[in-house]
Amino acid sequence: EKLFSGFSKTRENLAVVDELLLYWNLADTDRVLDELEEALLVSDFGPKISIKIVDSLRDDILAGKLKSGSEIKDALKRCVLELLTNKGSKTELQLGFRKPAVIMVVGVNGGGKTTSLGKLAHRLKKEGVKVLLAAGDTFRAAASEQLEIWAERTGSEIVVAEGEKAKAPSVLSQAVKRGKEQGYDVVLCDTSGRLHTNYSLMEELVSCKKAVAKVIPGAPNEILLVLDGTTGLNMLQQAREFNDVVGVTGFILTKLDGSARGGCVVSVVDELGIPVKFVGVGEGVDDLQPFDAEAFVNAIFP
Ligand code: GDP
Repeated sequence: EKLFSGFSKTRENLAVVDELLLYWNLADTDRVLDELEEALLVSDFGPKISIKIVDSLRDDILAGKLKSGSEIKDALKRCVLELLTNKGSKTELQLGFRKPAVIMVVGVNGGGKTTSLGKLAHRLKKEGVKVLLAAGDTFRAAASEQLEIWAERTGSEIVVAEGEKAKAPSVLSQAVKRGKEQGYDVVLCDTSGRLHTNYSLMEELVSCKKAVAKVIPGAPNEILLVLDGTTGLNMLQQAREFNDVVGVTGFILTKLDGSARGGCVVSVVDELGIPVKFVGVGEGVDDLQPFDAEAFVNAIFP
């Protein structure tokens, strides 16, 4: 429901196409596909994906495979679903067998990183997972306190920086050591929010990753990039840069309850081949859902 309301703007953009498809006949093909391309572009699908979708529909229409407006609509949904599920890449967390599993959460400031980490802790705890939080955002003064509030809210233990000069890699390393010694299942690591253009902070992420791997070879198991769902195509650039520097294993898409821009998500998943693992649909503890590509597509193309 929240996802559906978040995509109202995208649906509005596509309404004209829906209308045309209701009364579609073969002679209308160019007009409908032009309108569709325009609507996809306005909805931030990006030129590459918009053209890819429209071309594939055109081919199928001209080959006589799609014979009605509703068949075209179904083909459109199938096409977007395929792009989003990206050849079956895993949308579930891959935590491996070694304990503790380590999840690092990264992203730009204000995207919803700390909130998502708290919501993820809540989710995992509900499943009976023993979770330790690591306050690795040592850059923003209030970040650690914000995470402490989430620790309290979710009944999780937390490791915070000792002393003002403590650096993120050492906080994460400490937390993972404690996780190992005290039998935790998962260590959830916050990191400093950063612009993807802030190269020294981006380098710090690499140090964080190395510090964690020193304690548990092969860790972190997951590096989840938080992407603000209300950002336009800039999301693609962010995802590229974080992936280049640190190697992203999955996305958490936040604020899909607001005025989300679903289109660019399709572009990001298609280009990078990295799956969306969770979506944020509000600020409460229960507002993090596993990504459901079908629900996502149905919310855009009902
Ligand atoms: P960070 O700087 O990336 O750690 O971002 P925060 O976790 O502090 O979140 C920034 C703001 O976005 C806060 O006001 C959050 O409550 C809000 N926020 C985070 N996720 C969501 C979401 O899924 N939906 C909505 N509506 N707000 C969110």
